[in-house]
Order: sequence, then C-alpha cells, then structure tokens
Amino acid sequence: MRANTADPFNADVIAAALDKPARFRLEVIDRCESTNSLLLDAAQQGAPSGSVAVCEAQTAGRGRRGRGWLSAPGDSLTFSLLWRFPAGLSAPAGLSLAAGVAVARALEGLGAAGIGLKWPNDILADGAKLGGILVETVTVGGRHIAVIGIGLNLRLPRAIAEAVDVRAGSLDGVMPYTPSRNLLLAALLNALATTLEAFERVGFAGLADEWLARNVHAGQRVLILAEGAAPLEGRCAGVDTDGALLLDTPAGVRRVVSGDVTLRPA
Ligand code: ATP
Repeated sequence: MRANTADPFNADVIAAALDKPARFRLEVIDRCESTNSLLLDAAQQGAPSGSVAVCEAQTAGRGRRGRGWLSAPGDSLTFSLLWRFPAGLSAPAGLSLAAGVAVARALEGLGAAGIGLKWPNDILADGAKLGGILVETVTVGGRHIAVIGIGLNLRLPRAIAEAVDVRAGSLDGVMPYTPSRNLLLAALLNALATTLEAFERVGFAGLADEWLARNVHAGQRVLILAEGAAPLEGRCAGVDTDGALLLDTPAGVRRVVSGDVTLRPA
C-alpha cells in the first residue's frame, strides 16, 4: 500500500507542538500489531502516565469485541495513550466517551466540520465513521491504568472503504486541508490531556453536555444489539452522568452500559 513519505511521524515535531511536552513520553514505531497491546504490556512494566505509541503500520489493530481496525500507512493515524488514574478513583466508566469529546474538540479546533459522536466510541462526520476509540484497562498495584487507542482516517483508501461493514469516511472530506499527522497528533494529545484531567476531577459528568451536543442519534429510534439477547429498541434519550446510554422504551427509560453492545439505527 502507498505510504505518504512526505508526512512521516517525527517525535521532535510532535513534541514541539505539545502544550505540556513533559506530560508525554512519545515513541514512534514503524510497524507493530497494535499500539494498545504494546502499551498494555508497557503498563505492566511500569510505563509512566502519558506514554504514547504512534505506529505507521499497525498490522492487527483492534476494535471492540475482537473486531479489527484497519489502517493504511500514510493515510491513517493510529496511536495509543497510557493514562494512570489517581489511587482510589473507581474504574473509569465513561472514559471512551470522554476521549470522544477530546477527539472532537481537537478536530474542530483544526477546522473539521460536522463532527459527531456515536455511543459509545465512534467518531463520525456526516454519518460516515472516520475514527474509532478503544479503551482498555489494567489494574496494577491497585491503581487503574487506561490505554486509550485511537484510529483516524485522514484519507480513505478504497480497500478500507470496501472492507468495513459500516459507511466509512475520512478527514480530508470534512476539513479544508489535510493536516500534518504530527500536528494532528499533538492537537489530539493536548485535547486528551485537558479532557482527562477534567475527567479525573469530576468524571464524565463534567463532559456529558459536550458529548450530548455531538450525539448523532439524539432523539432517534435505535436498536441495541447484544449477543444472546433480543434487540432492545427505543428512542435515544442521551447519556447518563456516568456515560451509560439512556434509552426511552415503552417500559420506561433503560440504562445501557457500554461493553458488549452495538448501537444501530432502528
Ligand atoms: P460499530 O461502529 O459497528 O458499532 P464497534 O464500535 O463495535 O462498531 P469499533 O470498535 O469502533 O467497533 O471498530 C471496529 C469496527 O470498525 C470494524 O468492525 C469495522 O466495521 C469498522 N472499521 C474498521 N476499520 C475502520 C476504518 N479504518 N474506518 C472506518 N471503520 C472501520
């Protein structure tokens, strides 16, 4: 696949565009299976909060429930950020929604139009999926460590558009220019740091309004699909302060917690 050699990842260029460079430890990797897997292993070895792995060719990128995340060298940005939460903070529910708010803030700050969020972890623009978020957690020494993996399509090679079972999109369709991947990554890390610090203080509750403002299914009829269970249909009534989806059903408002469920338009 064609690699965009005019725009290689460069840790110095990324660091120069960070608001707080000392907050991060950047590693640029040519090829790996999954940046989330790398950082989950690194977490066990004591890697510091703010460790970032960005990879040009991810060969086995993951989505939720073992589904794949596809990327193309030069046309995608795939990276993961390791974040340690203070002792005593409970398991970070709502974290993938908080990360979605950070991604939306960063993309909009760079001029992207029409960015929307689909519960719990997709980044859309004009109904097309241009990014995904996979949050995985480990507990080491009683403290929760999250690895936040983010994949974004800058351009969309036909091979990816045809291989995925959703309508895929890319940033070049919703931005007036295609940003340098180094500057895009720095903008995302700046937004993630601000958002995660807010999340540490007040949880998802402090970010819920921003998430709701970009909820692509607000007020729409949706289906919640879970393996081994009948589909649950209702009207999307937003999200709760912990990030759970609120579904208006004939039996009342149901809370759907993120995990092994998929949301589809009804
Ligand atoms: P869904 O969006 O179908 O609810 P999900 O949230 O369960 O999916 P994710 O974890 O976001 O899944 O990502 C995996 C899915 O994303 C894949 O099954 C595929 O349909 C889609 N996908 C994979 N790579 C890309 C890509 N580069 N661009 C857009 N969509 C992709």
